[in-house]
Amino acid sequence: MAGFFSRSARAKTQQDDEAEAGVLHPISAADLQRRVELLDSFENAGLGWFWASDAQGRLIYLSENAAEKLGLDTADLMGTHLTDLFEPEVDQSLEKQSQRPLPFLLGARNSISQLAVKVAGGKTEHFWEIAGKPQFDQNQDFVGYRGSAKDITSTFQSAKDAERLSQYDSLTGLANRHRMTKRLTSTLTAFRNSKRSCALMMLDLDRFKQVNDTLGHPAGDELLQQVAARIEKVIDGRGEIGRLGGDEFQIILHDMDDRGDLGELGQRLIQMISQPYQISGSRAVIGTSVGIAVSPYDGVECDELVKAADLALYAAKGGGRGQYRFYHIDFTDGAKHRRQVEEDLRDALASDELEMYFQPIVDCKTHKLKCLEALMRWEHPERGFIAPSIFIPVAEDIGLIKELGEWALRRTCFQAKEWPVELRVAVNVSAVQFARDDFPDLVKSILMETQLDPHRLELEITESVFLGDPERTQEKFEELKRLGVRLALDDFGTGYSSLSYLQHAPFDKIKIDQSFVRGATEKDNNNPAIMSAIVSLAESLHMETVAEGVETKDELNLVIERGASHVQGFIFSKAIPHAEVLERLEKGELVYEPRGPEKYRSERKSVYRKIKLIHDNHVYDVTLRNLSKTGAMIEGLLDVPIDTNVVLNLGGGQLAVATVRRSEGATQGVEFELPLISDGADGLCTRHRVSPYQIEAAGKPLASLPEDPYELLKLEVAGNLKGRAFMEVGTHKSRG
Ligand code: C2E
Ligand code: CA
Ligand code: CA
Repeated sequence: MAGFFSRSARAKTQQDDEAEAGVLHPISAADLQRRVELLDSFENAGLGWFWASDAQGRLIYLSENAAEKLGLDTADLMGTHLTDLFEPEVDQSLEKQSQRPLPFLLGARNSISQLAVKVAGGKTEHFWEIAGKPQFDQNQDFVGYRGSAKDITSTFQSAKDAERLSQYDSLTGLANRHRMTKRLTSTLTAFRNSKRSCALMMLDLDRFKQVNDTLGHPAGDELLQQVAARIEKVIDGRGEIGRLGGDEFQIILHDMDDRGDLGELGQRLIQMISQPYQISGSRAVIGTSVGIAVSPYDGVECDELVKAADLALYAAKGGGRGQYRFYHIDFTDGAKHRRQVEEDLRDALASDELEMYFQPIVDCKTHKLKCLEALMRWEHPERGFIAPSIFIPVAEDIGLIKELGEWALRRTCFQAKEWPVELRVAVNVSAVQFARDDFPDLVKSILMETQLDPHRLELEITESVFLGDPERTQEKFEELKRLGVRLALDDFGTGYSSLSYLQHAPFDKIKIDQSFVRGATEKDNNNPAIMSAIVSLAESLHMETVAEGVETKDELNLVIERGASHVQGFIFSKAIPHAEVLERLEKGELVYEPRGPEKYRSERKSVYRKIKLIHDNHVYDVTLRNLSKTGAMIEGLLDVPIDTNVVLNLGGGQLAVATVRRSEGATQGVEFELPLISDGADGLCTRHRVSPYQIEAAGKPLASLPEDPYELLKLEVAGNLKGRAFMEVGTHKSRG
């Protein structure tokens, strides 16, 4: 439409002057009339509007139906600044336009061509596309703009929707994989220059497939939406969350490299996601594993960081479930490791590598043996014993648990039948196995086959069996009770808060999870109070209680004091092979002596590891003998004075500043300046690491942390080495 104004829209040329002077094509009155009519019909057809402004940018003309569209009167609009009609800040979705914003164009008296703008105010969003040309008078003085406009709201919205769809996950509204990759790439590039850090968390839901399979896809979708909402709540604007597809989520966290904070956040996500869900009348319980990697430590480029977080996630899943892990160089083998476990597990049963061990459960008061819990053991021909917390979840994932579970049940019943004493035996039943419709029939046939008295058999099941159809679950409980077997609720108190099902489910026993016993004897711990509550609840429902994982005498005293009826734990015995069970039972050794440390020590671990100790820029070889959050014991330097400041190089860029507190010959006890934190597994790590930016500053290219980054930095300070202050002495390798 700009053409309509073209005669006066550009600076005047000689031709124009001639035209004005009437030399060429004089416009007749009829012609003029036709033009006005044409203009009117164009405006009225809604094909477009016209506008004009004065030299100050104030409106002097606007098509009537444009004003109508704005809900205003043309007369009222006259004199309004053009820029006031539109939103000052550029709409995010308009960002991609190559043109400068409207105020800039107007100020610079530039032509405006097809500029999309958002109409100011109004209840609903309106977008216009405007065009215009600056006008000059005979003296080349600027007199204002003439231009056209049209409403592009609908086409614009659909373009916006398409843009949204291509960047966001339609189910949860979170960013999709495409957007997350774009965001991470641009963040990492920008942060590299300003030497900032960025953490990446990968989440993968545990047991999601089970919900999807038992409750159906719509329920699965609803569950994913609820999970997304919970993640958003925990993250609370601190990072960008995306769903990569399936049950995989990703979170980008700016300026986060404190592994203490990251671990806490990971733990919080696990906790929140593990709370039960209410989905169209059914209860569902899932969990999540979390892998964490931090740039630039674990990866500089997007691909590298994503791979590191993926490997950390893999390690978290491999270590059982509901855990977080920080990326570690060693994990590059982790994925291979898990695949190996998968492959080898398929053969383990056939090649006779599996065995049942038995752990005593004793009476709290008399310490008399009441029951033996059967625990599966897998001795791998090359790798030795592999923990059930590793291979049972793998078996569940690859659909092997049914076979393993059936084998364990049959084997245990046969063995228990051989015992010279009529003792109870407890067998663990995976929720996946319990979900089978024919599970009660299987138990029945194995009891017949083995001729074990049903009253001697106790089935340990976890709260996750309440997943799925509650009526069918209740029916199965009843079928099992009719067979005469006992039911125990295992790992009680781990994350699922609803107690209502306890009233209806016919359990004979509640096993209080180890996590309530661990640390319960420390000051200000509220686990004892929870234990009391569980015990009184169980008593009111006539159920026995077992305190699991009791290791020390003070823990034993505490669980007795809190009223647990039974105890299971290393304080009495670990799980032992069947031959040993038979031997004990034949000798009539039914009463157990508590044997173990007096007191629970917070995570002090005996280790034997060669590490480097740095003092005055000098590096010594020492042996780490024991490590806790607050300090360590080292061996290998003679007569180090108390209060000497040292740095322990714990590897992987972890430098722990410490002070010598005790010193005796070649052994020193040091206290850390900053306590270590949990690494998500059962190890400890430092909050901070040597930054790859520091290494870069020392003249090396920016890269993720090598095995021993201190070696690279050390060269920097080699110039001002002082003499060695301490004498290194060899230490013999023995386990403390
Ligand atoms: P769970 O059913 O909670 O079994 C108790 C676990 O705690 C056992 O670990 C046992 O060795 C350990 N434990 C007992 N007392 C102590 C203690 O004082 N301190 C510590 N730190 N640990 C103690 P285990 O044998 O490694 O088994 C781990 C899990 O694997 C079991 O946890 C159970 O969920 C699963 N599992 C083991 N065998 C089977 C099986 O035959 N079938 C199924 N479905 N799951 C099994
Ligand atoms: Ca158990
Ligand atoms: Ca347990």
